[in-house]
Amino acid sequence: MSHLVGKVIQENESLFKDISHKIWSNPELSFQETYAHDLLTAALEKFGFEVQKNYLLPTAFRAEFCNSKDGPTIAILCEYDALPNMGHACGHNLIAEIGIAAGIAVKSLMEDNSSICGKVVVLGTPAEEGGGGKIKMIEKGAFSDIDASLMAHPQLNNMLYPLILDLARVTVVYKMKEGLDPWENPNANDAAVACYYNISMIRRCFDPRWRVSGIIKRSTWEETELVFSYRAPTQREILTIKKKLKNCFENAAVVTGCECLYDFEEDSQGSYRGMIANRRMAQVFAKHAETKGIVFQDNNLRICESAVSTDMGNVSHVVPSIHPEYSIGACAPHVNHTPGFTVAAGSSEAQEVSLKIAECLAQTVWDLMTDSELMLKVKTEFETNPNRVSAAPSIVFQDNNLRICESAVSTDMGNVSHVVPSIHPEYSIGACAPHVNHTPGFTVAAGSSEAQEVSLKIAECLAQTVWDLMTDSELMLKVKTEFETNPNRVSAAPSRQAGE
Ligand SMILES: [Zn+2]
Repeated sequence: MSHLVGKVIQENESLFKDISHKIWSNPELSFQETYAHDLLTAALEKFGFEVQKNYLLPTAFRAEFCNSKDGPTIAILCEYDALPNMGHACGHNLIAEIGIAAGIAVKSLMEDNSSICGKVVVLGTPAEEGGGGKIKMIEKGAFSDIDASLMAHPQLNNMLYPLILDLARVTVVYKMKEGLDPWENPNANDAAVACYYNISMIRRCFDPRWRVSGIIKRSTWEETELVFSYRAPTQREILTIKKKLKNCFENAAVVTGCECLYDFEEDSQGSYRGMIANRRMAQVFAKHAETKGIVFQDNNLRICESAVSTDMGNVSHVVPSIHPEYSIGACAPHVNHTPGFTVAAGSSEAQEVSLKIAECLAQTVWDLMTDSELMLKVKTEFETNPNRVSAAPSIVFQDNNLRICESAVSTDMGNVSHVVPSIHPEYSIGACAPHVNHTPGFTVAAGSSEAQEVSLKIAECLAQTVWDLMTDSELMLKVKTEFETNPNRVSAAPSRQAGE
């Protein structure tokens, strides 16, 4: 197997390098990658792939080869957009080269083993640099029939699990209160500075993988505007940072007596998600890479600290995915997104190692296609990851099921709910009818280990809810208002009726 992969890639080496060099020499910005689109789709057509040009987006494509629909569908992703004024400073010409080389190698293996069921897809994903091309493709259903997706990205180091963070943004505006003289009172400038210092101070207590960076965008005595981006591995941590930032903003407003307006980009659909690297799949890739002498540096803490964001993170929440990074020989300060990296991405050294990586990806795809147990483990790991944003909640409420809703009980917790805002959700411990509450069957269920598992999950949810109430005064106020305005409370003052 590994012999055939190496042979196919070697035989077509000059073609792959030529494509990479042409894309590098003709850098195109996000959503304008027509030259790369045409070049890549023409090559894939020539190799007998069924190609859909302009697939869902004008410069995206999908090329597939299928032995049988029964097996898994596995996608290898290409990127090919460049950066303004810097050309291919992120080496996406190499990602395109790897994508087609790996795809063509897998197709050869499939033709050589026609009894193996499956489909290989080479997916052209434009506009990674800020455009979120993959996010748009997810929304349009590009991944709905994909079982797993893979790509590899050039970097300074070899990393199996690079730190790829969830990215969110916020804008803060401070306004001096009207009618005050700036020389007599703190002004919007002071508020901006106080806000900036507050954030600098809380950063000291951050998890080492969290990031906040920002600028004072415009500043007069009367009004200032600050823009911050903040990043963390998971959505839950993003929300924690958000709360801390809110405190920083509001504190600066209180101290300076300025008005404070902030706008958290709630449009989380459009933002880049943290990467959930599929460990099972990554280990298979690592096994192949290590036989080629590629050494991963994930245990080097100084290297691990560097963090990026990419729309491949979003893909990893939708299908099991990997996004290893590999060295193309560039060294600091010539990191990604600098002209020095552009030079490295065009070097023959970068092409050599990229084709090695293409072999490893092709072998990983082949392992997934031929080993159904591995594929199952990859999927199970994906489905049970609690950090997936699209993950179905592990506890599903059935309030809309009328047959279930019909059953009714009474409890003195009802009385409490008339005196203070209360909740009393019910949860399944695995017992089924006729073993309802107040029957011996339910006694058995209440002593089971299954019941204990789910009860501890529920305890977590309650603790988190209490914490939210304690830390979010706006939420607490809403809870109280809802309670106080409920006309059904027995202790509530009777509401006046019209005409009384
Ligand atoms: Zn990149």
